Amino acid sequence: MKQIPTVLIVDDVPENLRVLNDVISALDCQVVVANSGERALALLERTEPCLVLLDVMMGGIDGFETCRQIRANAKFKDLPVVFVTALVDDISRGFDAGGNDYITKPIRVEEVRSRVAHQLERFNLTNELKDLNLMLEEKVRDRTADLNLANRHLRKEVNERRYMQDRLNYLAQHDFVTQLYNRDALDEHITHLISGVQSKTNAHVPYFVLIDINEFHLINDACGCIAGDELLHQLATVINDLCSPQRDFCTRLSGDKFAIAVGRGGSEAVESLFRIMNQRIEDFVFVWDGRQFRTSLTKIAIPITVDMVSFEQVIMLADEVSYSCKKSGIYSRIVENAGALAYEERRGNLNWGLRIIDGLEKDLFEVHFQQLFPLAETTTLDKKIEILVRLKDEKTGKLLYPNDFIRAAERFGIISKIDRWVISHTMQQLAERPHLWEEVSQVALNVSALSVREADFADFIVAQLEKYQLDGQKFCFEITETEALNNFVDTRHFMSLLHECGCSIALDDFGTGFSSFAYLMDLPFDLIKIDGLFVKDMHVNAIHHGMVDSIVKLAKMLNKPVVAEFVENQDIVLQLQALGVEWGQGYHFHKPEKL
Ligand code: C2E
Ligand code: CA
Ligand code: CA
Repeated sequence: MKQIPTVLIVDDVPENLRVLNDVISALDCQVVVANSGERALALLERTEPCLVLLDVMMGGIDGFETCRQIRANAKFKDLPVVFVTALVDDISRGFDAGGNDYITKPIRVEEVRSRVAHQLERFNLTNELKDLNLMLEEKVRDRTADLNLANRHLRKEVNERRYMQDRLNYLAQHDFVTQLYNRDALDEHITHLISGVQSKTNAHVPYFVLIDINEFHLINDACGCIAGDELLHQLATVINDLCSPQRDFCTRLSGDKFAIAVGRGGSEAVESLFRIMNQRIEDFVFVWDGRQFRTSLTKIAIPITVDMVSFEQVIMLADEVSYSCKKSGIYSRIVENAGALAYEERRGNLNWGLRIIDGLEKDLFEVHFQQLFPLAETTTLDKKIEILVRLKDEKTGKLLYPNDFIRAAERFGIISKIDRWVISHTMQQLAERPHLWEEVSQVALNVSALSVREADFADFIVAQLEKYQLDGQKFCFEITETEALNNFVDTRHFMSLLHECGCSIALDDFGTGFSSFAYLMDLPFDLIKIDGLFVKDMHVNAIHHGMVDSIVKLAKMLNKPVVAEFVENQDIVLQLQALGVEWGQGYHFHKPEKL
């Protein structure tokens, strides 16, 4: 609200007071009069004038003294005081006393009005400024309070954000199950190592170690994924504890695969890491639901060399090397010439991928069969055969054997196309040749675990049996022991579906998987085929003879008949007979021929 300014006029002559009052009243202000200096001083506090018009010559204290006393009050030290005087000579005394201006007597209306108007305008402006300042101060106060509050919120938010960011960074770099670094973190680390190798700033050749748990699928399938996670967690702790934090970068890559980047120490560091790992894993027992499980690892290491330019390349190389080591039954190895090895492997694979697709399209596949022979007198004289696939080379007409292309087919995900073709083609042949169908009592077909994993694979077989109107009882499906146990749940499901239509199941290449008795009891198979590797030299190799002996004893305990593969001579036949093996299969009896 606008304040109306007050002007205090001080004069001891009433006529002067009246004249001044008349002049000033026309302005936008309120006038207060005092007829003495004392009276003026008394009125000051109450009226708080914005201007004093002060006569100099007065009875009692004069104008100068009044002015001095006004100035003595701190509150009024800036109050404008204008002397009204006839004595121009006194002017300097007036300024000394603290006056701001003067008006000479006799007064001129215009002069008085303009002086007073000027002072009033100053007063109003000052007041406005004061109000503005107050408002501003209030605003600043409010703003400051707001700001403080906002700052507090902000600080809290910043802290939360920082925590979340840290957590996110952690999660982005770590694996949830094992708390080890994850694939992305490894990618970063390996990329860094690669650039060190490229710029030759590394003092040592770094090594990439790939580890997988051989029994993981077994335990995961048998006990469930919670047990699987717990196994991963426990093994991750074991493996990580063996690593040196300054030298090694230990990660979970995916599934049951761990990877370690060994930054320093070269192959010797890797060797000693493998050595202590072997010891620790040998002592490690996984306990779940009161059952005890022993585990083993496949671990390979490759050097990171100048010809490796990306993380993916290193992973792929290591994967190839691991795969081919496992294929050769090697579970721990440092492979120095990984690049060359994997190049050959991949080039071969790539070639095979195209040849297989081509073969399926151009009908270049053939089915051959090998007959089984009874070894025990009690065994019936039925004709049992095993179907073996071959691929004809389009150019040379020569036959290509499955050991050359099955693995490539598995890698390219086209193995089930081959298996389906073999099953369908064999059944068609049997349906079209009633004489052959009558003659055989059992037809064995090999199937890959990757086919078994396909949800509709068993349905496909059932549909083919119906299509060709064949009795399921005459068919036996062979799946390797290792693959069966690695895919325990799928295999068991597949087996029970096929049992429903009378088919039987053989565990092929038995003996390399070292399955425990407990797992075997849980799998509904009908027949064991001993891996030919043990059979073909059992007459000269005591260890292999012992293996065959143990497998036969195990089979007897499980009450399953046994077939021995790779029976190559009469010595083997005699030994197998002595051990009580029911069936033999091999070049000694029959070389595979076209069906
Ligand atoms: P397998 O099931 O163990 O088949 C036996 C292999 O041993 C056959 O090789 C056979 O020709 C060979 N063999 C037979 N008698 C003897 C012998 O006295 N000595 C030696 N050293 N070898 C003998 P083949 O036909 O090359 O098959 C190799 C593997 O390829 C098979 O091993 C089987 O696992 C796989 N396979 C064959 N046909 C198929 C198929 O249609 N589908 C799938 N998924 N795999 C197949
Ligand atoms: Ca077989
Ligand atoms: Ca075999």
